[in-house]
Amino acid sequence: MMVYVGQGERVVPIGPTEDRDCPRCEQVTAFQPQLRYKFGQFDLLFGFVYGKRYQLACTQCQHGWLLDTRLTERSLDRSPIPFHLRFGWLVLVGIAALGAVVYWMRQGGV
Ligand SMILES: [Zn+2]
Repeated sequence: MMVYVGQGERVVPIGPTEDRDCPRCEQVTAFQPQLRYKFGQFDLLFGFVYGKRYQLACTQCQHGWLLDTRLTERSLDRSPIPFHLRFGWLVLVGIAALGAVVYWMRQGGV
């Protein structure tokens, strides 16, 4: 069985831009609230997310601020992270548990 293993990093816009005074551009620019996360992936189906952070970044120079994760997630309708990356590890745990049960039954069980 071929298993595809990959990893990457994504930046997802999570809302409309807002005008802010950017200290690096020294002018008012559009700031984009976004989620940046890294992910690992097995076989395009199962994955996991790490290094998740919400930020407000200048669209000109990428300078920005970190946003509070809990407050930001509360304001979102749904998570911008794909389902299979958020819950893929549960599938892996399920498969492992199933394998353990099958193994246990083959041993004769109780
Ligand atoms: Zn800037």
